[in-house]
Amino acid sequence: MIASPPLKSELHPGSPDLATQLGELVAALEAAVARREFGEFYRLFRASELPFLPVAYEGESRPLFHQCFTALHQLGGVSPATALAIENHFYVSATIATFPTDHDPVLDKRRHALLAAISNGRWLVANTNSKVHGRALGTIGTVARREGDGFRITGQAAYTSLATQGDLLVFITEIEGEGPAVFAIAPMQRNPGIEIGSYLFPSAMLDSDTRRITFHDLFVPEEGLIAGGKSPSTSALFAFEMAWHQLLIPALYLGAAARAIEEVRRFLRSTLGRDKRPLAELDGMVIDVGRLALDYESARSVVRYAGDELGAVRRLPRDAEQLERALYLASGAKYAGTRCAEQVVAAARRIIGARAFADGHPLERLSGEVIFGPLGPEVSAVIERRYGRQALADRPFVGVSAES
Ligand SMILES: Cc1cc2nc3c(=O)[nH]c(=O)nc-3n(C[C@H](O)[C@H](O)[C@H](O)COP(=O)(O)OP(=O)(O)OC[C@H]3O[C@@H](n4cnc5c(N)ncnc54)[C@H](O)[C@@H]3O)c2cc1C
Repeated sequence: MIASPPLKSELHPGSPDLATQLGELVAALEAAVARREFGEFYRLFRASELPFLPVAYEGESRPLFHQCFTALHQLGGVSPATALAIENHFYVSATIATFPTDHDPVLDKRRHALLAAISNGRWLVANTNSKVHGRALGTIGTVARREGDGFRITGQAAYTSLATQGDLLVFITEIEGEGPAVFAIAPMQRNPGIEIGSYLFPSAMLDSDTRRITFHDLFVPEEGLIAGGKSPSTSALFAFEMAWHQLLIPALYLGAAARAIEEVRRFLRSTLGRDKRPLAELDGMVIDVGRLALDYESARSVVRYAGDELGAVRRLPRDAEQLERALYLASGAKYAGTRCAEQVVAAARRIIGARAFADGHPLERLSGEVIFGPLGPEVSAVIERRYGRQALADRPFVGVSAES
C-alpha cells in the first residue's frame, strides 16, 4: 500500500512532530470511542497543532490539502463520524485560509481577522448551510434581515456537525431581498441567540455531533458578514468552499476503507481454513483482496489528483476556469471516494463474516458510518447529472474527459 506523505513537522520547533501528534490523537480517539466519552480527545485535539494547520499553511492549498487528507484518513480509520465532525472544521478553516482573493481588501481583512481568532483562541469551527428537510428540496430554514449596523438572524437549520464543540459558527443564509451570504459568529456555545438542539440522526453517526440548530433573533454585526451579495468574490468563495468540502469528505471515508482492508488482512492471516492453513494463502482470497486494494488505491488517486487541481487555483478571478475544473473534479473525487469506501467496507464484512459484529469489532462501527459518505455534501444524483451532461455534450467524449 502507498504510504501517506509525512506530515510537515517543522511548524513549531520543539513540539512533538505532527506525525507523532496525529498518532497520539488516533490512540486517544480509539480510547474515546471505546469509552463513549470524547472530552479528553477534543482536549488533546485542541492542544495539538492539527486543528490549526490551515492557519500555518495560509495561502498554500496544495500542501494543506495533503496534510488534512492524511489527518482525516487516519482519524476516519477509527471513527468516520468523529472524523466527519473534524472535517467540517478543516474544510471551513482551510477555505478561509486559502481563498485566493485579488483586489478584495474587505474580504481579505475579514479572513485574516478570522484566522487570527481561530489561532489565538484555539477555536474549532462548526458550520451550517441552513438547509432544512422541507417539502421542497433545497429549502433554507434561516434568514438574515438588515438591522442598524448589522443583521438579525432567525430560523432553524437541520445540520450542524461538531455542534457542541464548535467555538466559531460559520453559516450560510439568505439576506432578505439580497441573496445568499456567509456569516461567522462567536461564541457559538452558551450564546442566547443560538440554540443547539437534539441529534439530527437519533441513533446513527452520533459521534459526528450533528444537531439541529435554531437562531433566536441572533444579532450579527456587519463585521460578521464574510461575503454576500452578487459580487463575483461571493460566488467564487462558495465554489472554493464546496471544492474543499468535496475533497476532504472522501479522505475520511477512504480511511475507513483502508482500515477495513487492514481488518481483512488480520483476519485472513490469523484464521485457519479446513486444511489448517491461513485463509490468506488461498489464491482466491489473494485475488479478492487485491481487487479491494486496487479499488481503494484508484479512488485515492482520483482524490489526490483533484486536490492538486484545487492547489492550482492561485489567484481569482484570474484562475476562475481552473476553479471550475477543480470543482468538477472534486465532485467526481467525492463520488468515487465515498462510493469505493462503502463498497470496500461491505466486501470486507462479507469476507470476515458475522464476527465483524462481535466483541466490539471495528467493522461494526465502520459499517454503520461509511454509508453516510455518498449522502453529502452534494447528493449523488447531482454529480451524476453533471458528469452525464458533460459526457453527452456537443463535443465528442474522447478528448473532453476530466484529464484533458
Ligand atoms: C452526517 C452528516 C453530517 C452533516 N453535517 C453538516 C454540517 O455540519 N453542516 C452543514 O451545513 N451540512 C451538513 N450536512 C448536510 C450536507 O452538507 C448536505 O446538505 C446533505 O447531506 C444533503 O443531503 P440531503 O439528504 O439533505 O439532501 P436533499 O437535497 O434533501 O436530497 C434528498 C434526496 O433527494 C434527491 N435529490 C436531491 N437533489 C436532487 C437533484 N438536484 N436531482 C435529483 N435528485 C435530487 C436525492 O435522491 C437525494 O438523496 C451533513 C450531512 C450528513 C449526512
